[in-house]
Amino acid sequence: MKNTSFTEFQLEESIERALESMRYEKPTEVQHKVIPIILMNKDVVVEASTGSGKTAAYGIPLCQHVEWLENKPQVLVLTPTRELAAQVREDLIHIGRFKRIKAAAVYGKQPFARQKLELSQKCHIVVGTPGRVLDHIQKGTLSVEKIQYAVIDEADEMLNMGFISQVEEIINALPKKRVTMMFSATFGEDIKRLCETYMNNPEYVKIEDQAAHKPRIIHEGYLTKDTQKLSLLRDVTIREKADSCIIFCRTQEQVDRVFDQLVEWDYSCGKIHGGMYQEDRFDVMNQFKRGEFRYLAATDVAARGIDIDEISHVINFDFPLEKEAYVHRAGRTGRAGKSGKAISFFTPHERELLAETEEYAGVSIMLKEPPTKAEVEAARDSFERHMFQTERKEDKGAELNKDIMKLFFNGGKKKKLRAIDFVGTIAKIDGVTAEDIGIITIEDQASFVEIMNGKGPYVLNAMKKKTVKGKKLKVYEAFNR
Ligand code: AMP
Repeated sequence: MKNTSFTEFQLEESIERALESMRYEKPTEVQHKVIPIILMNKDVVVEASTGSGKTAAYGIPLCQHVEWLENKPQVLVLTPTRELAAQVREDLIHIGRFKRIKAAAVYGKQPFARQKLELSQKCHIVVGTPGRVLDHIQKGTLSVEKIQYAVIDEADEMLNMGFISQVEEIINALPKKRVTMMFSATFGEDIKRLCETYMNNPEYVKIEDQAAHKPRIIHEGYLTKDTQKLSLLRDVTIREKADSCIIFCRTQEQVDRVFDQLVEWDYSCGKIHGGMYQEDRFDVMNQFKRGEFRYLAATDVAARGIDIDEISHVINFDFPLEKEAYVHRAGRTGRAGKSGKAISFFTPHERELLAETEEYAGVSIMLKEPPTKAEVEAARDSFERHMFQTERKEDKGAELNKDIMKLFFNGGKKKKLRAIDFVGTIAKIDGVTAEDIGIITIEDQASFVEIMNGKGPYVLNAMKKKTVKGKKLKVYEAFNR
């Protein structure tokens, strides 16, 4: 890659500063190619998989484009899953942190009313799944009149999951004068049609270096029978001694079964599937991200958009029925320059599917013999010692967040408080300026104000003695960021 830093894009200082805190030193290939196109307000179609840095490829230029003073949403990002929506929102908040960009995530199985409240306040970017976004548009709780940028992320998955008509309905509701961006790991006929119908002479960018094609992912396969899969899983995990591993299953029941078995074996493990409560899914993902356990049993849907760089192994406990799913699953490992292994169990009648998948993904899955009893016994001791020596992984936002403290005030809309009232009071404290105030969120009964640049404890103390718009409020450090 030619370029060496983000400075060539001439980004705002606040965004450059955020990238520095996030330790993004140089653009990835997709960022190098796509950022300039979006900065020029051109439509773009990008064939790139998760792991390539695609979120920041649109996140950086869109945060640059956002007009801070505009209160209504200017950017809409559609994602196929709730996890990805939450992940994208978090990435955008990080990139836009010093510009004080407000981004909301809206998705199903979460209280509509709370999202409605969030959307009724200043909000620059909305990220969401198609069903819930459409719901908000139809109920008039998401204003689209100022949307100038629409991103369709993981478009292929969106179509696979049957969201096509909702996506089209949403696009049709948006202003005609807009920039449309589409990101997809694969580029089939449906996607082409979508581009032709809804995009304006888009530029086309293909990132050849797709996750599953990268030589740093080793692809291995074990021929087995359904009845032998669990014991094979045990032997293979002992042989592999994975640092961090996702075990993919076809159904929720299978995830439960595998997970129960892992628990019985005393593995450090968790599980995630669509049948679980959203809050539990987030908790599990965050624990896995932080390295609190090593083995995650998951269905495809639940594992979409998982942004973890250090997954050493992916095991297809059930071979994926769809070829694209293989690419997505294998792409969970071998990220951010690390090496990884994608291991597939397949039954005799899945041989043909395996061959087709190899051809589609352009990879060769090496057939392996199961570990012998002696091999397993020899490896067991070291495997068991390794199991609970978990090293905590660094939280990506930690560096950014360390100088930020979020304050809670026990008054909000009901007391007729507005963001400006907090800015007015806080910026008058000696040694504090408006620049030190980050994102402000006013709810009915409470308000949250981020204080930046390490001045949180000082402001917290000072605010205990002050009033906001003549009102005495209780103030504490907020628990949730
Ligand atoms: P994505 O393809 O958007 O899921 O991103 C894959 C991973 O790469 C994420 O963990 C990002 O935080 C990380 N990442 C994206 N861009 C950069 C960059 N320029 N430098 C370092 N890490 C990056």
